Amino acid sequence: MTFEFKLHHRDASTSARRGVFLTPHGDVQTPGFMPVGTQGTVKGVTIDQVAQTGAHMILGNTYHLALRPGAETVRRLGGLHAMTRWDGPILTDSGGFQVFSLKGINKISEEGVVFRSHIDGALIDLTPEHSVEIQEALGSDVAMVLDHVIALPALRSEVVEAMERSIRWAKRCQDAATRADQAQFAIVQGGLDEELRVQCASELAAMNFPGYAVGGLSVGEAPEEMYRITAATCPALPENKPRYLMGVGRPIDLIESVARGIDLFDCVMPTRNGRNGLAFTDTGHIKIRNAVHRYDTQPLEPDCPCPACRHSRGYLRHLFVAGEMLGPILLSIHNLTFYQRVMRETRAAIERDEFASFLLAKKKAWGFADSAG
Ligand SMILES: [Zn+2]
Repeated sequence: MTFEFKLHHRDASTSARRGVFLTPHGDVQTPGFMPVGTQGTVKGVTIDQVAQTGAHMILGNTYHLALRPGAETVRRLGGLHAMTRWDGPILTDSGGFQVFSLKGINKISEEGVVFRSHIDGALIDLTPEHSVEIQEALGSDVAMVLDHVIALPALRSEVVEAMERSIRWAKRCQDAATRADQAQFAIVQGGLDEELRVQCASELAAMNFPGYAVGGLSVGEAPEEMYRITAATCPALPENKPRYLMGVGRPIDLIESVARGIDLFDCVMPTRNGRNGLAFTDTGHIKIRNAVHRYDTQPLEPDCPCPACRHSRGYLRHLFVAGEMLGPILLSIHNLTFYQRVMRETRAAIERDEFASFLLAKKKAWGFADSAG
C-alpha cells in the first residue's frame, strides 16, 4: 500500500495519538508539524535547513503556485519535489482557502469559483476537477480536496450550504483523481456548529478518504471555540486515518489539539513571526528587538541546536535593528526548530502515557496556566 496510517499508541488519559503516516516520499511521524512553503520555498530558509529543523513533511500552496510560476512550469521543472529539492513528503492545499479569502473578487457557484489573479487581474476558474489537475501536475504526495470556506460568524443556513457543497465537491475531487502516488484528504467543514461538523465528518468518513482535515478554523474565532469544534469532530472521523487541523497555529494550539485527537498541523506562524522578530522559547516568546536584549550574551535557548542559538540575543537584536536579512532568517530557523522539538516531545509524552501532565507543564511554562481547556 502506497499510503498507510499506523496508529502506534493512544495516550491513557487524553485523546492524543502516536502514529506514523507512510507516503511514497517517506514516513511522517505524528503528531507532526508541517512548515509552510507557500511559493515553493519556506520563506528565507534553504531546503537543507528545513530538513535540519526536524521537519518530515512540508506544505505548498496550490493557489500561489498555480498563479506563479504556474502548474505547467512546475511540471516541466520536474514537479514540486525536483523543483524544490525536498525529498520528503509534500502536501498541497486545494487553493480554496486563499480564493475564498479574497473578498469581493470571487464568484461562487455549484460548478466552482471564479476569481481574479492578485498578480495580473486575469479571471481564473477553480473547480474541484481543476484543483485536482493542478495538484497532480505539482506532484505532491497529499492533495487536499477543494472545499467551500466561509467567513465566521455566518448564518446557519450559509454554513449548511457551504458544508453540503464541500461534501459534493469532495466527491468530485475523488472522482477526478488519477494518480496512485497521490493521496487525497477530505476537509470537514461546518463552522462552529458541533452537530454540522459531526454530520460532515460522518458523510466524508463514509467516502473512505486516506486522510481527513478539519478546515475553516483558525479564522479569528476564540481558541476555546476551535478546541470545542476539534473535540467534537475527531470522534466522528475514522480511527485509522490521519487527522490534520489546517492552518493551526500557536504552539499552545498544537498541543491542545493533539489532546483532542489531531495528528498533523501546518502554519506560517514560526516563519512569519520569525521574520517579525518574535522567537518562541520554552519559557514563552521573546521580542528580539526590545532594548532589554541589547547587552544580552545568552542565546535564545541554551539547549537549542539551531544556527540562531550559536549567537547571543544581543547580536540577533543588532541584526534586526540594522535591517540585516540574516536576522529574520535565523529567527525563522529557530522557530521551526522549536516547533519540531515541541512535536518530538509531544510524541515522547504520548508514548509514556504522560501527555496530560506534559500539556499542563507546557501551559504553565508558556504562560497559559489559567486558560481553559
Ligand atoms: Zn535556536
